[in-house]
Amino acid sequence: MAGKKEGQPSRKRRIGVMTSGGDSPGMNGAVRAVVRMSIYRGCEAYAIYEGYEGLVQGGDLIKEMKWEDVRGYLSRGGTLIGTARCMAFMERWGRLKAARNMVKRGIDALVICGGDGSLTGADKFRAEWPGLIKELVETKELTPEEVEPFKHLNIVGLVGSIDNDMSGTDATIGCYSSLERICSAVDDVFDTASSHQRGFVIEVMGRHCGWLALMAAIATGADYVFIPEKPPSTGWEDEMCGIIANHRSRGKRRSIVIIAEGAHDVELKKITAYHVKDLLNTKLKLDTRVTVLGHTQRGGPACFYDRWLSTLQGVEAVNAILDATPETPTPVITIRENKIERSNLMEAVALTKSVTAAIEAKNFDRAMELRDVEFKEYYSSYRITTSTDRPELLLPEGKRLRIAIIHVGAPAGGMNPATRACVAYCLTRGHTPIAIHNGFPGLQRHHDDQPIGSVQEIKWLDVDHLVNEGGSEIGTNRGLPSADMKKTAECFELYKFDALFLVGGFEAFTAVSELRKAREQYPAFNIPMVVLPATVSNNVPGTEYSLGSDTCLNTLISFCDAIRQSASSSRRRVFVIETQGGRSGYLATMAGLSIGALAVYIPEEGININMIARDIDFLRENFRNDQGASRAGKIILRNERASSTYTTQVIADMIKEEARGRFESRAAVPGHYQQGGKPSPMDRIRALRMAIKCIQHIEDRYIGKSKAYIAEDPLSASVIGIQGSEVVFTPMGGDDGLEASGTDWADRRPKNEFWMVMKNTVDVLSGRPKLTDGC
Ligand code: ATP
Repeated sequence: MAGKKEGQPSRKRRIGVMTSGGDSPGMNGAVRAVVRMSIYRGCEAYAIYEGYEGLVQGGDLIKEMKWEDVRGYLSRGGTLIGTARCMAFMERWGRLKAARNMVKRGIDALVICGGDGSLTGADKFRAEWPGLIKELVETKELTPEEVEPFKHLNIVGLVGSIDNDMSGTDATIGCYSSLERICSAVDDVFDTASSHQRGFVIEVMGRHCGWLALMAAIATGADYVFIPEKPPSTGWEDEMCGIIANHRSRGKRRSIVIIAEGAHDVELKKITAYHVKDLLNTKLKLDTRVTVLGHTQRGGPACFYDRWLSTLQGVEAVNAILDATPETPTPVITIRENKIERSNLMEAVALTKSVTAAIEAKNFDRAMELRDVEFKEYYSSYRITTSTDRPELLLPEGKRLRIAIIHVGAPAGGMNPATRACVAYCLTRGHTPIAIHNGFPGLQRHHDDQPIGSVQEIKWLDVDHLVNEGGSEIGTNRGLPSADMKKTAECFELYKFDALFLVGGFEAFTAVSELRKAREQYPAFNIPMVVLPATVSNNVPGTEYSLGSDTCLNTLISFCDAIRQSASSSRRRVFVIETQGGRSGYLATMAGLSIGALAVYIPEEGININMIARDIDFLRENFRNDQGASRAGKIILRNERASSTYTTQVIADMIKEEARGRFESRAAVPGHYQQGGKPSPMDRIRALRMAIKCIQHIEDRYIGKSKAYIAEDPLSASVIGIQGSEVVFTPMGGDDGLEASGTDWADRRPKNEFWMVMKNTVDVLSGRPKLTDGC
């Protein structure tokens, strides 16, 4: 067995894992991570089948899980160990039976992946545990000797739910996969609605929580959204029709309304999709149809984010179990921006319940307050960018800016939605959004006597359709300002740019650095400049996330799933797949984590002969242990720049040679396919939120400020980014700035790559042995 630790205790701890409540994509990833991490940490893992039903019934519903039993779990939808709603567990007698079964099977720790109901039940079980054990001894169901090692029960919660309805965490396992399903359906409706100039009302899941509806509305540019936490005010019918009529009068050919299944008005009177449809039909004479998405929202394989989240949270859950003392309050594993945390389970559940209570009490402001900050921000960002005719939000004449938008570097999913959000926000506030077409070379081609139209003001209708478009509509280019700094400065002056908003990857970062350094020579650059990182490689210093990387990872994992499937049951085959990423191993490592790659080769570590020899041995062992359905292809991921000698083809050939007919190997290069088609919903919604934050940053700090002030302020040339649990702006210049202390310029990546700690997790969960010489 791979990955076991030395010095294990004589009686191994047994950790149970179960999925409970409604299923959600990603639950299988959590089970796999808990099983393998438990084994790696020297414990035994048990799956409790069918949720609490399995615990109450015991017998075959509680099964030991070996390392190989969870092979292939990451790419499967639903939950492979089953889930159920169990009435018996709601009663004490049911929990008594569950406690007896656990002691009999030697299990004293449980990881439960489910919604707030399941987690409430779990905490209750833990609190009652000593009493249950006492009763089982008194009734002679168990002997004092039997219960002796089981005085305490440790429980850790993982939130598995498509609704994203748990307070205290930004995301629940499954919510982004569900959002993918919804957005792909709405994108399709979007096309047919445009063709026929129709209206569509689309109902999505969410009885008490509007996360899916709101995020789908943002990600698809819906004209109006109904969510339970923020019902529309009295007279909403006129407001909604007004907004839609306004959009139509500007030339929009489709109208989309998204409604959560739990939508209601301020009097808690249900608002149905059919009611909205009738209104649009009668009031606006708009040919409108209703689409109820139903259970398609739950199904299908998990997207990249849910595989990543469930894996890291599953690992954290096992660590939390092993760290726990009898006094530790029951934790739930949460995520804040990009940081996995442990929170107090009952506090999170209580907060979640208080949202529902606030809605029932018609205290909607309170309901919004109780939701996460992020949710509120998304809601106001959606409103600001959807109905741009809001006189109360217009800035006075003297405070309005001319804001230039430029895309720099290779195209990445999210560039277009970011541009759309920026334009819509600017128009609401009275700023003038200006597109620079085709990057800096586009700008530098300008001739005074022959303006070539590469700088143009943008209107709302020019960008509205960009909400779900991949690539870069205004054109992007890798060229830098330094190719013609003088001309660049002249154009900045000619077009009177007050601020520059750059969307792009390492080149955008380099461009701002160049412009900042040239400020003394060219005062035209003394304007605020902000980079919104957008690159599949996610290698921009100052952020742990770049637009486009999520789209790319989704594409990459679908490619890997398909290619692996192609080998199933026919051949023993290993695929060596080459990923993009330049000199950053981010993509390869994250894809490896979410597909369960056998090995990942990255530039940060390089490749040597010992590694390849070790991995070939490991492959032999893996194929030997494979049986039946788990005999799908194996995957090794190699970043395109990991080694100049050991190319993807060379590695595939070496494996083939060494396998001596026992298995085959193939090289595969998905190339530019990895950039993906339409941006993923996460890239779309984060594009909106971060683009607006950038413009607000410019407004808050620089409106009415002198050029000298701007030149002096380090944040006037900065990068917006997610760092741990926060969204922050980091200056380019200064001693602590990104240029001097955060950037590995030679390798075009951040000096400290936050994800390197996860590389070890990929190896642990694949069972890849460590090299004894430490290479
Ligand atoms: P979803 O978000 O899909 O509704 P959930 O976990 O909230 O998921 P529930 O149906 O509320 O789903 O709960 C699932 C199971 O958890 C129940 O069938 C029951 O066995 C157990 N459970 C829920 N609430 C409690 C409780 N208060 N006490 C004991 N057990 C509970």
